[in-house]
Amino acid sequence: MERSTIVRVHEGLHARPATRFVRLAKSFESEVEIVKAGKAVSAKSSVKLMLLGVKENQEVTVRANGADAVEAVEALIGYLENPRAGLDEDDATSEHKEMNGEAAKPVVATTPMQVAAPAGGLRGVAASEGVAVGQAFAHFPPEIRPQARTLSPEEAEAEIVRFGHAVKVVQARMDKALASEGLAGGDRGIVAALRDLAADDTLIGDAEAMIRSGSDAVAAVIATAAKLAAEFGSVDDPYLNARADDVQAVGRQICLALLGQDDVSLEDIPQGAILIADDIGAWDLSRAPLKRIGGIVCGHGGATSHIAIIARSHGIPAVLGLGARVSELRTAKEIALDGNGGTVVADPADAVKAEHLSRIEEAAKERHALDVFKDVTPKRADGTVIEVAANIGSLEEIEAALAAGAMGVGLFRTELLFMRHMHLPSEDMQAETYAALARAFAPHPVIVRTLDIGGDKPVAGIEFPEEENPFLGWRGIRMCLDRPDIFKPQLRALLRAAVHGNVKVMLPMVSDIAEVRRARALIDECAAELARDGVPFARFQLGVMIETPAAVLIAPALAREVSFFSIGTNDLTQYVMAADRLNPTVGALNDVANPAVMVAIAMTAKAGVEAGIMVGMCGEAAARPDLIPEFLRMGLTELSMSPASISRAKKRIVELGKA
Ligand code: PEP
Ligand code: MG
Repeated sequence: MERSTIVRVHEGLHARPATRFVRLAKSFESEVEIVKAGKAVSAKSSVKLMLLGVKENQEVTVRANGADAVEAVEALIGYLENPRAGLDEDDATSEHKEMNGEAAKPVVATTPMQVAAPAGGLRGVAASEGVAVGQAFAHFPPEIRPQARTLSPEEAEAEIVRFGHAVKVVQARMDKALASEGLAGGDRGIVAALRDLAADDTLIGDAEAMIRSGSDAVAAVIATAAKLAAEFGSVDDPYLNARADDVQAVGRQICLALLGQDDVSLEDIPQGAILIADDIGAWDLSRAPLKRIGGIVCGHGGATSHIAIIARSHGIPAVLGLGARVSELRTAKEIALDGNGGTVVADPADAVKAEHLSRIEEAAKERHALDVFKDVTPKRADGTVIEVAANIGSLEEIEAALAAGAMGVGLFRTELLFMRHMHLPSEDMQAETYAALARAFAPHPVIVRTLDIGGDKPVAGIEFPEEENPFLGWRGIRMCLDRPDIFKPQLRALLRAAVHGNVKVMLPMVSDIAEVRRARALIDECAAELARDGVPFARFQLGVMIETPAAVLIAPALAREVSFFSIGTNDLTQYVMAADRLNPTVGALNDVANPAVMVAIAMTAKAGVEAGIMVGMCGEAAARPDLIPEFLRMGLTELSMSPASISRAKKRIVELGKA
């Protein structure tokens, strides 16, 4: 029995929709295969299915053989023809839980500072700011070495039983982790994905076949995981490439269970210790006692890596990307690290240690002295209130932002919601998130930025073309306007959330008036749909980010279309100066204080002020005490920044108001 169809699932059989498809296939006794372009794979293996790379609008055939073949084909074809397959109401709730706990901070890398390593020190990527000195805690799990032995058929049978038992142990450990309250929400998704792999027919089945042909179980698992990881690694899809690590992590856990060993655990890390590792896998990280970790030093990882995001979100200073040189730190007793400059010193000499400690002390003193400004409402000399708001990317950061004295949110980066999940977030989940955000800051405004992703950041469920210049490519509002199936659920969610507080919405990467008009037309369409369906909603103010030179040049016209401007100096600087914000070699040019950029900011402010709309700033420059006076003179009345900078900015504004 077989039938062909065109796949309508929005995300294709990628990530979550693939897992769901496999679950459905497994509910039938029949053998089921899916065929694409002449290649057939078992529909009961999510690994095989993901590697087959079935995309939306491609033709596939479902083939089944067995007692319930007709039902199986019918159900699976129905699944493939449903655009929203793989994303149901259950997901909306679980996603919300995931998201609540999601570790997140701006994913965009700040330009690594060019700081020379102290004598005898190492330099890596400054991935999470702060200075730390602490006991070294080296985490280099030993390599697992299989025995070189060939099993007789009888031994092989016994080995398969042993292997099956080890797989069950690993699955049970993961189930336990999933059931535990302590597992941070964002990490739950990671563990769930590993749990799926630990039950996958490809990994388990291929290893079993090797054992049957005489291989030792540990050797079979290592070989199978390596082969699969290589397959994931070679696919032209960054999301699938990242699954290679997951396969290796699961393989390692099965091997350890076979050897009756526990992995070197991070659970015993002493309070304030500096974690040194070549890499920290998702599985380890999800179980690590982050509150106890004083700093992180890693051979792998960059400013946008998983570890960096988690470190920033938990305020842990981190230096990553040291490469093979990280092993020089293995025997260190003590580490001094500078997460601002990206330097690490093993067993620092007294003078180096004293210098680091004095910077830690200074930072603590400064924090303390600034505390009195937290609850101040800063005003310009003429009495105009200057809103000092927070840049955040997850609900988890609300508490810290409120505690820091944020007068609302000037930039909520919604892409983080999309990036750390196995699937696109549903409209309900988004509506809940934005509503929770609005409620937390009411009556202050929360400015939610619509999805701003591009070819440089993988998102499960969105196919990005290979681009020579992703920063000049299909990103931000450009992508959203082409994908109303992704954009409209976000807009509807925002309209629904606006009932619960002071929600404003801004569009990223605008370079043409038509983009604003098209977005507004979609908002109107969404509002009409909600009204028709009797779903409560409220209109929100619409603004644009000014982060392209084009937007600056048409600012007077744009100002007539929108309610506010928010200047995105991170991108505006790179585009005005034609200097890649991620490339340290042109870091000196990437300077917001360059007259060219300051003129662009002044032109924007003038256009906004003359049109009578609010002009704010949410790029990193908004927090610079040296530039704040200039921004206020230009007429900016809102500055949005990371919560840690809020009291310092308020202090600066108060001083200016008195001057
Ligand atoms: C900016 O470009 O200044 C900005 C705030 O957006 P992002 O850093 O997220 O690109
Ligand atoms: Mg930007």
